[in-house]
Amino acid sequence: MKLEGKVALVTGAGSGIGKEIALCFSREGAKVGVADITADAAAETVKEINAQGGEAIDIIMDVSDESQVDAGVSRLVDRYKSVDILISNAGVQHIAPLNELLLKDWKRMMGIHLDGAFLTTRACLREMYKNNKGGSIIYMGSVHSKEASKLKAPYVTAKHGLIGLCKVVAKEGAEHGVRANVICPGYVRTPLVDKQIPEQAKKLGITEEEVVKKVMLVNTVDGEFTTAQDIANVALFFASFPDNSLTGQSLIASHGWFME
Ligand code: NAD
Repeated sequence: MKLEGKVALVTGAGSGIGKEIALCFSREGAKVGVADITADAAAETVKEINAQGGEAIDIIMDVSDESQVDAGVSRLVDRYKSVDILISNAGVQHIAPLNELLLKDWKRMMGIHLDGAFLTTRACLREMYKNNKGGSIIYMGSVHSKEASKLKAPYVTAKHGLIGLCKVVAKEGAEHGVRANVICPGYVRTPLVDKQIPEQAKKLGITEEEVVKKVMLVNTVDGEFTTAQDIANVALFFASFPDNSLTGQSLIASHGWFME
């Protein structure tokens, strides 16, 4: 097991990619803080982790709320005496062209993606810096951390921003043994993606099938979706990597949609 004795906080772990990472990390021996804004979803993930013999607690938090994040990380540390890995993953999508985009929706997106990443990072760093214990911070970026798509201005902006945050954490954290990296998935068939297929079809005036084939997967090498398990494998690679040689990086797993 690659994460024996480690404690991981996974945000957005009630669904999709975060849930898969929480289950995977538990199988690898980590104790998991299952953080989500949706209580039922977090409780269900904890139940599934317990059913596979793992240890986890649910932590209900809105990642954009300072006091909820600080309280949630304190609860995890009280329970398991550490936090060694942060997966900053909670996220939502908002589909609108720039000329129709409302400031309140822009701010909500920045709040969840960027305030959320900052607040969870700060709370975890304060623990990881104690006695220079160190740790691994992993941000859920996107191909949209590198590339743009129409109708997704706040998402693309925020996902690019995570790369900047990651690089600063890598520099400041190094002397304390803290590494930071970004995972950039292509399209993964989760509720986040399922919701936007009809929205994009309507806004672009094409069918849902065309959104999948001609928008989402058009530039992949094989027309395939990336899977949550693929992303969990990348997260495990970053989380179990032993030293600062791999820090400040972003890795794209997208069936070749975007190549650097
Ligand atoms: P999902 O909708 O399946 O899961 C997101 C989870 O985040 C949900 O459980 C939701 O309740 C939770 N959440 C939402 N807002 C929150 C908040 N303010 N505080 C705490 N929790 C909150 O989505 P997913 O596809 O698994 O996406 C997870 C991450 O992966 C997101 O950051 C997303 O941008 C990123 N991502 C997804 C894809 C994809 O194709 N699915 C591709 C690239 C990146």
